[in-house]
Amino acid sequence: MPRPLKARIHRSAIRHNLALARQHAPASRILAVIKANGYGHGMLRAAQALCDADGLAVLSLDEAAALRAAGFSQPIVLLEGMFGAEDIPAVVDHRVTCVIHRPAQIEWLRNAAVARPIDVWLKVNSGMNRLGFSPAAVADAVAHLRQSAAVANLLLMTHLATADEQRGVDWQLAVFQQSAAGLALPASLANSAALLRYPETHADWVRPGIMLYGVSPFADESAARVGLRPAMTLQSEIIAVQQASAGETIGYGDGCRVERTTRVGIVACGYADGYPRHAPSGTPILVGGVKTRLLGRVSMDMLAADLTDLPAAAVGSPVVLWGEGLPVEDVAHAAGTIGYELLCALAPRVPVVEEE
Ligand SMILES: *Cc1c(COP(=O)(O)O)cnc(C)c1O
Repeated sequence: MPRPLKARIHRSAIRHNLALARQHAPASRILAVIKANGYGHGMLRAAQALCDADGLAVLSLDEAAALRAAGFSQPIVLLEGMFGAEDIPAVVDHRVTCVIHRPAQIEWLRNAAVARPIDVWLKVNSGMNRLGFSPAAVADAVAHLRQSAAVANLLLMTHLATADEQRGVDWQLAVFQQSAAGLALPASLANSAALLRYPETHADWVRPGIMLYGVSPFADESAARVGLRPAMTLQSEIIAVQQASAGETIGYGDGCRVERTTRVGIVACGYADGYPRHAPSGTPILVGGVKTRLLGRVSMDMLAADLTDLPAAAVGSPVVLWGEGLPVEDVAHAAGTIGYELLCALAPRVPVVEEE
């Protein structure tokens, strides 16, 4: 009998979320972002479920090579481009589109003798101050790339820092439009939040990530309200039940001292599985479909749930850590992080079961 913890991946949810992205941005092509092992869902698994997308985005050449080896033939964008000139042969070999965000990458291309020119997405730093050319440097970079025999098609992109927040996108949109003026290039700006909220950012390619996995990019609007379905359900079972008297403590440390007689369900899931150790007592958890709360510190392989008001719960009762019936956003919020981090942190030891 295997340990009862598993991550169920719902392919139909991913397809539904992709269709929702299309509905929001019908005139744009969709670059499905599957970096970080498909946000924890498995890169190839995510790519398969997203095979109707117009392109795929990853971070490393190894990922791009694995996608090509698996037969994916659509454009693949390398989100940080090459990390060195020695990457260029593989980039050409695998027909990878490169983000170019700093001058050295242009130099590498200009000095390379390539059999077949590559497509380039030139990144503009429109205010996030992470990657990209300053607006003043964009025209020169474009001119250099247009002169290079190693470059085929060119696109201008930027990344939005506050599309999920009150500040919105106007401030960066203005900077980007100024940088792009007169260059007559296609453009890509929108992450999930901008795709859902700001049609004016859609342009030629949208770049959804988190929404494809059914997680809301917004702190103030749930996935269900946006119409998204969670793609991952992390589920387990109760493997032991304890009765703690008033004044006793639960788990490691003495931070969780109960005030009443408490039935405690021990769940087969811990921080070594990717459940956040920082989740405090009170973090939501579903036992037998009913919402209850985490008790005490999360251990490496186990955690405790309050069963006091769930008389039907017993050893073998199903537990949902996040997913169907319990948004990962709610667990993340309680733990002081975001759903992205929890999904990406799913540990390799957790068996993954793919479902329709
Ligand atoms: C990760 C990433 C995205 C996707 O962002 P989400 O918030 O997950 O939709 C889009 N563009 C770039 C450049 C990224 O790095």
